[in-house]
Amino acid sequence: MSRATVAIVGRPNVGKSTLFNRLIGERRAIVEDLPGTTVDRIYADLSFEGHDFTLVDCGGLELEPGSAMKQKIREQIEAAITEAHVVLFLVDAQTGPIPVDEEIADILRRSQKPILLVANKVEGPKQQNEVLQFYELDAGDPIPVSAYHGRGINELLDRVMAALPSLPATVKEPEIAMKIAIVGRPNVGKSLLVNTLLGEERVIVDEIPGTTRDAVDTVLRYDGEKVVLIDTAGIRRRGRIEQGVEKHSSTRTLRAIDRADVVVLLVDAVEGITSQDIHILGLIHKAFKGAILGINKWDLVEVKDVDSWKEVVRQRARFMPYVEVLCLSAKTGFSVGKVLPAAERIYHERLKSLPDSLLDNIVKEAESQRISPSRGGRRLKIYEARQTGVNPPTFVFLANDAKLVHFSYGRYLENKIRQLAGFHGTPLRLLFRSRGEEIAQCS
Ligand code: GDP
Repeated sequence: MSRATVAIVGRPNVGKSTLFNRLIGERRAIVEDLPGTTVDRIYADLSFEGHDFTLVDCGGLELEPGSAMKQKIREQIEAAITEAHVVLFLVDAQTGPIPVDEEIADILRRSQKPILLVANKVEGPKQQNEVLQFYELDAGDPIPVSAYHGRGINELLDRVMAALPSLPATVKEPEIAMKIAIVGRPNVGKSLLVNTLLGEERVIVDEIPGTTRDAVDTVLRYDGEKVVLIDTAGIRRRGRIEQGVEKHSSTRTLRAIDRADVVVLLVDAVEGITSQDIHILGLIHKAFKGAILGINKWDLVEVKDVDSWKEVVRQRARFMPYVEVLCLSAKTGFSVGKVLPAAERIYHERLKSLPDSLLDNIVKEAESQRISPSRGGRRLKIYEARQTGVNPPTFVFLANDAKLVHFSYGRYLENKIRQLAGFHGTPLRLLFRSRGEEIAQCS
């Protein structure tokens, strides 16, 4: 079931992470740090007075000193609000409104999302007066709080609750089956592939404008399910005009990966796999997304040796033995019909859930077949293994001392899981906890 999302946005140093911590501290819930995602967002699932929602803090995108302020902030805000249903716009009552706040207010107004203007650091009469100045941002009534001292937090939560029921119908949109991003360097054939895909008979197309100005997702009705192609505006347009140098935008690629369930990285068979392609594969892996490597322009390849291509991929992307490799031609249509079925298959792999008993057996077998790592006379012992989440499949191992698990042992356990349960095309997320630490529940 999809949950409502509440995002905290604001310029650096207004207290976003303090507010985030305060909100989850007040309503203790399941907190999960997602270090692998491409943007360092932190999510927490909260429940307050019968309302479930996910709180998102984009604090990881704080500015580095001296970096270009406007662009970074804009990207941060746009990424944050894309999937938010309510936005907490945080400002600083000790400084009052400054031009960057106005710029953020502009972006937020354009998004047409419900916005709650929250004035932080209200700790005395001086700031109480400052709060009135925020009316000039034209973003609603400022709600005074002190995240640090915990003042005004319950009132803020009440306002959030009041905003939640007025969510647009899209909140209850479980029909969207999966989200696919198509990424790759310029000229590898992304736009032609998208247009060929959309031209297929079984596909019905719909466009949904994204919240950001020029991001447009394309919805396909494929095989009775709704599939979203993420941010295809640029690539579809480019396909129509058939020329022009696309400005390569790594931020855009990252954002697309971040939002996708399955990512198709397209490469040019004539040029081969470049180090930049490997870099993008690494990003997909770190973000725990399903992965398809599309070797495009296959029509131009003279010796069509699929196996040797697969071997090259295995060698160059060792960290990703699970990646699905597809040789295709966006131009002739060869194997284009395999892209959506492959993505769907991988997506279903990502939704699989293993029973506890099976995982216990996997651990037992793993321990009986290979000596567990040890250090200083202390040997690793895993007491319990549980799958705590899907999409990505997430497993928690409870051990005597999680520090004893080094990379190769983690990889060994992962292989054991794959031998029994497959999970083709998707990375697995393995978490290790020492006894005494709580097992984090992943959503
Ligand atoms: P994008 O920058 O990744 O969107 O790449 P385009 O889709 O604009 O393609 C770049 C060029 O490669 C265009 O001239 C396409 O016609 C051509 N192209 C794309 N896919 C194929 C293919 O499978 N075979 C051949 N021969 N050419 C292709």
